[in-house]
Amino acid sequence: MKVLEGKSVFSGISIGKISILQKMDTSVKRVHIDDTAAEIARVEEAKGKAVAQLQKLYDKALQEVGESGAAIFEVHQMMLDDDDYLDSIHNIIENENVNAEYAVATTGDNFSAMFAAMDDDYMRARAADIKDISDRLVRVLSGFGDGGLDAEEPVIVVAEDLAPSETVQLDKSKVLAFVTRKGSSNSHTAILARTMNIPALINIEYDESMNGQMAIVDGRSGSLIVDPDEETLKKFQDMRDEELRQRAMLKELKGKKTETRSGRSLHLYANIGSVGDVANVLANDAEGIGLFRSEFIYLEKDNYPTEEEQFQIYKTVAQNMAGKKVIIRTLDIGADKQIDYFQMEHEENPAMGYRAIRICLDRPEVFKTQLRALFRASMFGTISIMYPMIISVKEVQQIKAIVEEVKNELTEQGIPFRDDVEQGIMIETPAAVMISDLLAKEVDFFSIGTNDLTQYTLAIDRQNAKLDNIYDSHHEAVLRMIQMVVDNAHKEGKWAGICGELGADTTLTERFVEMGLDELSVSPTFVLPVRKIIRDMD
Ligand code: PEP
Ligand code: MG
Repeated sequence: MKVLEGKSVFSGISIGKISILQKMDTSVKRVHIDDTAAEIARVEEAKGKAVAQLQKLYDKALQEVGESGAAIFEVHQMMLDDDDYLDSIHNIIENENVNAEYAVATTGDNFSAMFAAMDDDYMRARAADIKDISDRLVRVLSGFGDGGLDAEEPVIVVAEDLAPSETVQLDKSKVLAFVTRKGSSNSHTAILARTMNIPALINIEYDESMNGQMAIVDGRSGSLIVDPDEETLKKFQDMRDEELRQRAMLKELKGKKTETRSGRSLHLYANIGSVGDVANVLANDAEGIGLFRSEFIYLEKDNYPTEEEQFQIYKTVAQNMAGKKVIIRTLDIGADKQIDYFQMEHEENPAMGYRAIRICLDRPEVFKTQLRALFRASMFGTISIMYPMIISVKEVQQIKAIVEEVKNELTEQGIPFRDDVEQGIMIETPAAVMISDLLAKEVDFFSIGTNDLTQYTLAIDRQNAKLDNIYDSHHEAVLRMIQMVVDNAHKEGKWAGICGELGADTTLTERFVEMGLDELSVSPTFVLPVRKIIRDMD
């Protein structure tokens, strides 16, 4: 038995086998090869494996998002069989006497540059696909899996670090807990763990030999117990059973009002990242969805999701919520959420860089596609739209102008939409807080993103594990800002809520009620604990 100490970013106990995810180093070296025929045979073998991976992805996507969302994996399979593509790989191996990885990567770069230079929009978009299939082939040739979990049973996922694009690929039903060497409490892996209600640890110094071993993740103390002895295992199994009993007790609050004894109330909504999370929202009896992080739709794909694909997703969420409020945040990528096909340049300081609404205003065609899908879906429930990372009134006015264009186009095309869709902004920057009196005149509501607001107020990168202990959302500066935003919203008759992680901090629930917040949107698993505190208040 070995006990590794780390830091807990979400509590709970999980018991199961460890599965270490390999960090994929796909940087390719040029190596001299004498036996070129054997190298070509390696390419053929790798191609077979890549096609099988894509078939699996196709089947999964078909079930989860339907035919149109799955089609891309079929296209990728066809591309891997393209004669010109394969001839180029074979030629490079034979003419230059080089290894398969190098030939595939070079062909991938050449072909994708060629596609990127084409006039036709559709063909230009294929550049990212070529890059994607080449990366996949290189990964297979280098002995890496497809980045997914091979396990039959649910496992404890252990990794160096997990980017949102990696977690999105994981089959969530196979994950018992997240354990990483790096990462921070505010990373999206931590947020995902909260949504899934599974423990997560960071700063764990694991070693590769632990792969496949039985372990306990103790999200209370922050330790990973590898190969536990019988007595320890029994103790933790009992603790886990007790945890399940506690959760069952909270379920008794389902259907009850979120109201203090004296009748003060607020709206208690839940945060989601995909259609799949809606079941969790309903199971935990949230009154609505206060934050749908729509960027996960983009992260899951190899290319821009179409208007139709997005429309289907927003419509499904709205319908499943059966008229309850669904606040969908427009695309918030950049910073830690990078997407290859957006082809964004490397930035020294991405958290303060080209991200969120800045990208949408700079690439209106991407923004308009999403807005069209949102307005069309508004016919199927109560959808509100929320814009992230706002710093100025001018941005809001630019957004309004684009929204007007979208509405006019839909009207001209005879496509129905609701004209009264509520539109609000996230308050995540000190700039937005300081001008919240002006912004309140422009929008229908404010939702405070305390994760970023803390980062920008305290000048602490939320991804920087070294600074985790001083990243303090309870800082008086952050709490005063929240109060200021609430007061400025109310002066204009608008509502204000919190959708950052702080909203679920039960040590502050009473204070939030006193501050006059109108809404809290929390991970689904926190809905009932927060409701309990509010119901116990006078
Ligand atoms: C926030 O910043 O508080 C927020 C809710 O947005 P995200 O965590 O997705 O950046
Ligand atoms: Mg944010």
